[in-house]
Amino acid sequence: MNPFTYTRVSNPSDAVHQVTGKSDVKFLAGGTNLIDLMKMNVQSPAELVDINSLALKRIENFGGGLRIGALASNSEVATNLMVQQRFPVLSQAILAGASPQLRNMATVGGNLMQRTRCYYFMDTAFPCNKRVPGSGCPAIPGYNRIHAILGASDKCIATHPSDMCVALNALDAVVRVMGPNGERSISIGDFHRLPGDTPEVDTNLHPDELIVSVDLPQSPFAQRSGYLKVRDRAQYAFALVSVAVALELRNGRIETARVALGGVAHKPWRAMASEKILTGAKPDEKTFRAAAEASVTGAAPQKYNSFKIELAKRAVSRLLDQVANETSGGAK
Ligand code: SF4
Repeated sequence: MNPFTYTRVSNPSDAVHQVTGKSDVKFLAGGTNLIDLMKMNVQSPAELVDINSLALKRIENFGGGLRIGALASNSEVATNLMVQQRFPVLSQAILAGASPQLRNMATVGGNLMQRTRCYYFMDTAFPCNKRVPGSGCPAIPGYNRIHAILGASDKCIATHPSDMCVALNALDAVVRVMGPNGERSISIGDFHRLPGDTPEVDTNLHPDELIVSVDLPQSPFAQRSGYLKVRDRAQYAFALVSVAVALELRNGRIETARVALGGVAHKPWRAMASEKILTGAKPDEKTFRAAAEASVTGAAPQKYNSFKIELAKRAVSRLLDQVANETSGGAK
């Protein structure tokens, strides 16, 4: 691990001030991803700004929805009664990820910022466009079983590793950030980026901006929602494919639908074509199958991951059926 300086700050303005104008500085919260990457020399920031003392841990009612502080731990969010009862997909997604120990340390802001677990990115013996721009992507001709089937580029085929962010996409969450010029809001769909020609840039957060909260707007579909994760083992594994679904049912029809996929792209993938098919349709097997087919429209698999297409379709169809028929409003 390279030497670095360490600073602790006590309010958000100081945190932003500490990073403004610097190119090689990182915020440190739970450290569950960043410290690993530093130990492996994948990332080598010259300075860490510890934000753990900031008062950004509250989970509170806000505008009919919820405001979740960026430093609330993943465990606190997943076990919060308001989240469990009103936004069950979020609780389920977080509990599907990592381990209890990691969830106790990991924060909401850190979860948004976590980096791909592409094997080649994590191993400095290999070139990688995301780690060293212009060096190449060995995953494209290499072993690419866990990689993207949607939205990839000829520079990078990595997937986003978060479960939480897939649920946030289905909930139309908004990320509130603070920078040197004040606060701004970024819709969750615009927060993460596709790789394009700049896979080294994961998000649209500016380097001198601090995430302060994630807002979950009030919605008629959030309560009837669920998460399904398919992985190689039952616990402590990243998704091969995951699905978040939220539905508003009225008078025997689907009034509103949200479908988001994880494990298939460089960012959580909103299946807009599926949502279009679901909206106004009867919640039956025929509709769910059609929505599942549409969820992978445009998929372009690599040599070792074409199985993800069928896996995604089956996961979407199964979860839609489960959420639609859940009598208490949220899938289990
Ligand atoms: Fe690097 Fe992306 Fe290629 Fe993985 S897929 S080796 S992260 S450029």
